[in-house]
Amino acid sequence: MRGIVFSDKEDILSQALTFFRQKMEIDAAIYSENPQSSAEFGAKKLFFLQGTGFSDNVSDALLSIIQKENYDFIFITSTALGREVAGIVSDKLGKEIIAEIFDFNIDNSKVKTKRFAWGGKTVAEEESDCRIFTVMPGIVEASKVPEKSEVSQVRMNDSKVSLVQTIPKSSSTVDLEHAGIIVSIGRGIGKKESIDQIMPLVKAVKGELAGSRPVCLDYQWLSEDRQVGLSGRKVKPKLYIALGVSGQIQHIAGMRGSKTVIAINKDKMAPIFEEADYGVVGDLFQIVPMIVKALQQ
Ligand SMILES: Cc1cc2nc3c(=O)[nH]c(=O)nc-3n(C[C@H](O)[C@H](O)[C@H](O)COP(=O)(O)OP(=O)(O)OC[C@H]3O[C@@H](n4cnc5c(N)ncnc54)[C@H](O)[C@@H]3O)c2cc1C
Repeated sequence: MRGIVFSDKEDILSQALTFFRQKMEIDAAIYSENPQSSAEFGAKKLFFLQGTGFSDNVSDALLSIIQKENYDFIFITSTALGREVAGIVSDKLGKEIIAEIFDFNIDNSKVKTKRFAWGGKTVAEEESDCRIFTVMPGIVEASKVPEKSEVSQVRMNDSKVSLVQTIPKSSSTVDLEHAGIIVSIGRGIGKKESIDQIMPLVKAVKGELAGSRPVCLDYQWLSEDRQVGLSGRKVKPKLYIALGVSGQIQHIAGMRGSKTVIAINKDKMAPIFEEADYGVVGDLFQIVPMIVKALQQ
């Protein structure tokens, strides 16, 4: 069995290769400026797509590799460009796609995948004959292998798109990686408006506000650059206060370096308490004002 992973982000490609190299013989294709280390993550062959790429010519180049190499599986990492390319590849090959998987196994020639459903509230486990997938970032932590990939350059045709203007995103003012105190909110806060009730604590401890993936990515109650976890920021503050965060492994992966952890959660079985130095079982909306009052006195 052979597969290929395509990405335009080197760090996400290396995570996906670390995962899929354990499942099958895997190749990689990357469209990225100056990729440094993509050849070190277990791809047998590595194709560098060269030229100025947009979804049309990147897809054409990827399709030409796929047709020549005759892969059983095609994995495209879920980035803005990757999602566009995946749609085009699926359409041109006339094959369906499963989007945003975070687990993949083959059992009796059936493919078993997992992805989030219902806005991240549940996990859908699917069995299919599907051959094309987009893969979530942060599927595992990347690890290198001693053998390097065999590298080829693929020159892309010109795109039909031309760039008229680039408007930079307003740059992030959050520096979570260097924050001394972080107050992190999870889905337990219930709704965006509840952040107003958390801000007095953030101010009282002179901390930075951060959040879990549902808070930053799925519901966008906070900006994406405030997400802590495997696919977010890796932080190491002196104090990490987790409010209504359940403490799933992907969140813990981003805050394990914290010196002291305080968790407030109404579920005494929540896994965050295994990471916490101090835990409070209760409703955060009752406990947070009490802490703020005590700090102000
Ligand atoms: C590939 C992949 C990468 C991922 N990357 C990340 C990542 O980088 N970061 C990340 O965070 N997640 C990540 N996830 C998602 C992760 O698996 C969890 O789904 C997520 O961390 C759960 O977020 P949460 O704790 O906010 O929500 P939930 O798991 O829903 O937990 C909410 C918690 O709030 C508590 N609660 C509810 N109401 C109250 C209240 N009033 N007072 C006190 N407590 C209350 C509940 O008891 C519960 O424990 C990733 C998943 C995958 C598959």
